[in-house]
Amino acid sequence: IRTSRALERKSRELQETATQLREANAQLTALDKLKDDFLSRVSHELRTPMTSIRSFAEILSDASGNGPKLDSDQAARFLTIIHRESERLTRLLDEILDISRMESGQATLRQDRLDAAEIARTAVETMEGLAKQSGVELEIDLDSGPIWVTGDSDRLKQVFVNLLSNAIKYHHPAQTSPAKWTPRPRKAWVTRGPGVDGLVELRFCDNGPGIPESQKDKIFSKFARAWNEDGGEHQGGSGLGLPISRQIMQHLGGDLRLDKTGPEGSIFVVHLRNAAAAAAE
Ligand code: ADP
Repeated sequence: IRTSRALERKSRELQETATQLREANAQLTALDKLKDDFLSRVSHELRTPMTSIRSFAEILSDASGNGPKLDSDQAARFLTIIHRESERLTRLLDEILDISRMESGQATLRQDRLDAAEIARTAVETMEGLAKQSGVELEIDLDSGPIWVTGDSDRLKQVFVNLLSNAIKYHHPAQTSPAKWTPRPRKAWVTRGPGVDGLVELRFCDNGPGIPESQKDKIFSKFARAWNEDGGEHQGGSGLGLPISRQIMQHLGGDLRLDKTGPEGSIFVVHLRNAAAAAAE
């Protein structure tokens, strides 16, 4: 009897192990699929600028040999495209590396005591040129004193610049139903929200056309763009800015989310660890 009980127990244990193995296997398969999806997106994203670079380089090289000649204006235009596309390629590669490091936990972020208001001001300064060019009025609406937080100043600036650049870039009326969108003086601004539980809140606001309801939940996914190429002017973004920014904020013990969006504009909310609260831990 004792032997048969022991056998029963062993068989139950074996069954449990088998179930666990099956689950682990299913998880691995799912992970593999995620990796495959990511890789195929990456190669698709890289292929577009590469194809463009290769074809223009071929035309230029043919023209210097036996192929059809180009006038100097055409040649200059093709070189500009090659230059622009190779810059885009570099940016894409940097962003892909950045998000991979962040997701695999290899990125090391500093936790320094910083003035978030100061970083917001530098980010606004950095984006002033683009704002002027795009006809967007850029404002910073914060009290004059410092806002002490813990974080990594370069990374925080990267997040702020990304949010401001989106607020400036996405304002084309063709990107939304014209009936809902009235052209108006364009504005983007940073302000402070109430904040909770040891967290400081900064709000990045714009009065652009907003993000369509159907796309709201997707914009934090890798390579997602709310406006497709034929739905409106696409600004050549990678669709990695928001997922990278969210990863950075979460690594810093804060968060980034979309608070509101609609035909009146969008508000992205950044939460940062309050320095005093972090020191008390
Ligand atoms: P990228 O700007 O490189 O395309 P992001 O991850 O920064 O990638 O943004 C994803 C998408 O979310 C953008 O392509 C755009 O469609 C939408 N989006 C982001 N910010 C705004 C904004 N302030 N107003 C309207 N749409 C936005």
